[in-house]
Amino acid sequence: MRLSKTFIKTLREAPKDETAKNGALLTRAGYVHKEMAGIYDYLPLGLRVIDNIKNIIREELNKLGCEEVLMSALQNPEPWEKSGRFSSERVDIWFKTELSSGGELGLAPTHEEPMVNMLKSYISSYKDLPLYVYQFQTKFRNELRAKSGILRGREFLMKDLYSFHTSEEDLDRFYAEVEKAYEKIYARLGVGDCTYETFASGGIFSKYSHEFQTFLPVGEDTVYYNADKSVVLNKEVLEPEVLEDLGVKREELSEATAAEVGNIFKLKFKYSEPLGLKYIDEENQQKIVYMGCYGIGVSRLMGVIAEKFADEKGLVWPEEVAPFRYYLVGIGENGIAEAEKFYKGREDITLFDDRDKRPGEKFADADLMGMPLRLVISDKTLAENVAEVTDRRTGESWTVALDELFEKF
Ligand code: ATP
Ligand code: MG
Repeated sequence: MRLSKTFIKTLREAPKDETAKNGALLTRAGYVHKEMAGIYDYLPLGLRVIDNIKNIIREELNKLGCEEVLMSALQNPEPWEKSGRFSSERVDIWFKTELSSGGELGLAPTHEEPMVNMLKSYISSYKDLPLYVYQFQTKFRNELRAKSGILRGREFLMKDLYSFHTSEEDLDRFYAEVEKAYEKIYARLGVGDCTYETFASGGIFSKYSHEFQTFLPVGEDTVYYNADKSVVLNKEVLEPEVLEDLGVKREELSEATAAEVGNIFKLKFKYSEPLGLKYIDEENQQKIVYMGCYGIGVSRLMGVIAEKFADEKGLVWPEEVAPFRYYLVGIGENGIAEAEKFYKGREDITLFDDRDKRPGEKFADADLMGMPLRLVISDKTLAENVAEVTDRRTGESWTVALDELFEKF
């Protein structure tokens, strides 16, 4: 991507109404544009980050045999009435609207009910199970507080996976596989060493549900952890019997704030029973389908990663998340010509700063935008037949011979 050709512009100052660090930085660096509180547009760089996050999740879930779909956002109240969740008294974050031909619709805040309802058309026998279906989809929630940039959106992107089984053992087996896949996903996203599986409330038949919490000063959750962080629990379950259950003492726990970047639930029959998702087993008996659900906050993760790694100069993206690997700067006529040569064939991994701007401005934008490696080719480096490479994460700079640059980078 050529910076001279894109419409995005970096800003020296964040808009006044953007108080969250992630929102301010992502806006200044040209990744997002704010429509109103909790509602954002994703610009070319931001969209590439979102796509990278999605692709990592997609790769790991596909390895488990999960199938991707895209369900509608507009919701027929009917299946939700069966679970009791269409009521705005019970679920206070609904956006609802009306059909011009009459009748109410909702904008999906999540998809358990429509997923179960849809699969009633496809699951009838034990031979159809197990089944794992997921999507990346925009969710709508009328969140009361939306002051955390893209960490809490009124419209946000979620990965939601639902699994369907003939037995609790099989649900347990798959749940454990998802736990491992989530660990791989967070590691690849660069937050593996600050994201912990956390005991939380909301278990239906199992005692707890599990959240994945990334330790982050601006996170909205409070968690407690022991010395080696082998036990992390959400404040909501900090009770004597839970502590005893988990084999930890209150005195050995420290407090931290964290952002929930995912969660997993053994739902068992919570939705399959009221919605009537059944199958015929090997003995010709009708049984209710066991179910699990597994969420990841895709757009929230982008905000968490932005916020977590940023420094005083701007964003710092982990390798696999960065929209481009290289921020390429050519200086002087010959430097620009050589940079053009490098750019050719590497358009998809290089953000080429070919604008008519002073080197200092380009370097400041390189720091603000946060690509992992900055490459500088100038008359000065050409005189020595090298390019200058700077690692955004460490600030470390070194030179690389030009032929090596063209071969290895
Ligand atoms: P929270 O407690 O933060 O409101 P939740 O328990 O409502 O989250 P789920 O409904 O299980 O979350 O959604 C799955 C994932 O989607 C969460 O783990 C989180 O990462 C993300 N998420 C939830 N609400 C939002 C939101 N308003 N904006 C962005 N991401 C969200
Ligand atoms: Mg919520």
